[in-house]
Amino acid sequence: MKYQIAIIGGGPAGYTAAEVAGKAGLSVVLFEKRSLGGVCLNEGCIPTKTLLYSAKVYDYAKHASKYAVTVPEASFDLGKIVARKSKVVRKLVLGIKAKLTAHQVNIVTGEATVIDKNTVKCGEEIYECENLLLCTGSDTFIPPIPGVDGVDYWTHRDALDNKEVPASLAIVGGGVIGMEFASFFNSLGVQVTVVEMMDEILGGMDKELSAMLRAEYAKKGIKFLLSTKVVGVAKEENGVTVSYENAEGAGSVSAEKLLMSVGRHPVMKGFGLENLNLELTERKCVKVDEHMQSSVPGVYVCGDLNGVSLLAHTAVREAEVAVHHILGKEDAMSYRAIPGVVYTNPEIAGAGMSEEALQAAGITYHTIKLPMAYSGRFVAENEGVNGVCKVLTADDGTVLGAHMLGNPASELIVLAGMAIEDRKKVDDWKRYVFPHPTVGEIFREL
Ligand SMILES: Cc1cc2nc3c(=O)[nH]c(=O)nc-3n(C[C@H](O)[C@H](O)[C@H](O)COP(=O)(O)OP(=O)(O)OC[C@H]3O[C@@H](n4cnc5c(N)ncnc54)[C@H](O)[C@@H]3O)c2cc1C
Repeated sequence: MKYQIAIIGGGPAGYTAAEVAGKAGLSVVLFEKRSLGGVCLNEGCIPTKTLLYSAKVYDYAKHASKYAVTVPEASFDLGKIVARKSKVVRKLVLGIKAKLTAHQVNIVTGEATVIDKNTVKCGEEIYECENLLLCTGSDTFIPPIPGVDGVDYWTHRDALDNKEVPASLAIVGGGVIGMEFASFFNSLGVQVTVVEMMDEILGGMDKELSAMLRAEYAKKGIKFLLSTKVVGVAKEENGVTVSYENAEGAGSVSAEKLLMSVGRHPVMKGFGLENLNLELTERKCVKVDEHMQSSVPGVYVCGDLNGVSLLAHTAVREAEVAVHHILGKEDAMSYRAIPGVVYTNPEIAGAGMSEEALQAAGITYHTIKLPMAYSGRFVAENEGVNGVCKVLTADDGTVLGAHMLGNPASELIVLAGMAIEDRKKVDDWKRYVFPHPTVGEIFREL
């Protein structure tokens, strides 16, 4: 069996590469050992956002009186919320399968092993390929905390399928995944404690806006322990105890459930990667060039596996770039304006450089900051909620970074991302006619 492209991994990187290559008329085989869609569709982006949407609807119902609407008694059924999540996932997975089939991609269900750059084994079959795309993704990192092997902790997978509302939840790690689950369970009335080693939640996002979001959630009842190191976890009669140390000394939190969300790391073992002898970076990830090609010509590494960004939309773009290179089309990967979004309520989003990154790089910048209340639509739809839009510019007005707190930041940040990628100036937004009233009009106000 001979193919122009063999792709290992059917997540956003792998299925995008397969679709683009199939559409271009290349012969493609795609190996997936679990479910098409990868982490993103089955246990990441989509399921979390589906749960969070139910939580948002419940929040609106609980606080409907702010908008002069009476809801006698809002309630929820977690079992049904989880069932709806699974339905959404099934629908989207089927959609991907249909798309790939339409483009004549040979989808092979099974665990693939790389024999060499032109040979992949799956089951008893051997597949030959001219180009090899490795898109095997990442896995949850569980830190070696003393006692961790003796407790029944949740990873995101367990949290997504859990149908019983716990009384309390301790979350180790206040990054994006930790905060999205903190937001979800807080909406459902769970007593949530977030333990974070850094001095602020959401490392990598704008620090000022992250602190504002944290203050918002502290008001809603989440307890945050920042600059706090977890030194042990232990099973107790009704759950788990998390022991920690911080500047105030030693302490502990007891909770019915424990969610570990410290981070993710590329999966480098178990599929014959070592047979390719690829050059690695200092961080021990596979080194790739701007075409996503590794040190071995014809072997490309896209998505979480290369360890650069660990986001689904980055994986998608990297896959397009890799296939374009194979097709001889001019294209190159740029990481200048990758949006980062946290789907809490309110949402927080950023693209380009943060103030912290600009300062660390010694780049002079100017800050333009506006309350979201400059947008009439935002005021109409966000009773008693504040938001901020912050844009960072160079001396000549070129947009270097943009950061937003407030709904729907996830939808609006792409406007900033486009400006940053194309090196546009703040005044360029003023040349476009924005629909009125929209929250996006805030960009014309800057
Ligand atoms: C809880 C959670 C929420 C997230 N939310 C977001 C979000 O909102 N937005 C966002 O951009 N990102 C989000 N992410 C990250 C996102 O899911 C990943 O960045 C994305 O899935 C990476 O895509 P990928 O194609 O590189 O790998 P994956 O999606 O991990 O897919 C890799 C696939 O390869 C398969 N595979 C591995 N080895 C083999 C083998 N040997 N043979 C055959 N198949 C193999 C795996 O089964 C898997 O299906 C989230 C992640 C988590 C865990």
